[in-house]
Amino acid sequence: MISKGMIDALIAPGIEVLDLRMDLFGAPSYVHPTLLWDENDAVLIDAGFPGQLEQLREAIEQAGVPLGRLTRLIVTHQDIDHIGGISALLALNDRIEVLAHEQERPYLTGEKQLIKLSPERMAQFSERLSSLPEERRKAVLDAFANARARVDRTLTDSERLPYCGGIVVIHTPGHTPGHISLYLEPSKVLVAGDALSASDGRLFGPNPPLAPDMGQATDSLKKLARCDIETVICYHGGPYSGDANTRIAELAAGPPLSA
Ligand SMILES: [Zn+2]
Repeated sequence: MISKGMIDALIAPGIEVLDLRMDLFGAPSYVHPTLLWDENDAVLIDAGFPGQLEQLREAIEQAGVPLGRLTRLIVTHQDIDHIGGISALLALNDRIEVLAHEQERPYLTGEKQLIKLSPERMAQFSERLSSLPEERRKAVLDAFANARARVDRTLTDSERLPYCGGIVVIHTPGHTPGHISLYLEPSKVLVAGDALSASDGRLFGPNPPLAPDMGQATDSLKKLARCDIETVICYHGGPYSGDANTRIAELAAGPPLSA
């Protein structure tokens, strides 16, 4: 999914939406990890595609947080655009604690095959892959095959993490079984991961071809609709500052979920 780059990155003091660009299939696409920090902690939510480490480092340091200060990485789910940068990041700072939902852990550690690497999923992807030059295609497949990460701590639904003023874990399955969204208590910001996406100032639900369980995905929207939200940060699309509560309730009420 393509979103605009150069977003207005600073959401509130200590919360910055990063803006990472990649050109996998010729057209640029952007993804948006979120960085949180205070005097004790610096927390990154999601880590970008493989090969984006330099951009990621630059974006984090531009926010005024040296990479060595990063204490935690929370992973919303197993997809390659969210976990691809983890191993390179840990190679630079091994003290970062990696957190993910308990149901997502075996995919990250390699005990289970990443869902989007299943034969049916790869078949959907094969047309785009075959359009790439041989060397690039091999690099992409290697990146998929080697995207693994250790998980130091597993998370459960409704758990409150005491970092940066309080982060509540919301289990929002559908896109993947252990997908989580994160509610930042002091700022009422929802870091939605891929449970929601934004485009041209509008908010959308999960994209059906990418969400294997749409029933669960819709139930997850109902859960999100119960939060008091000022701003939503979507990994695809960046920040949304419209009337999030009304819009999420609308999306949770039924189709059409997507644009
Ligand atoms: Zn994604």
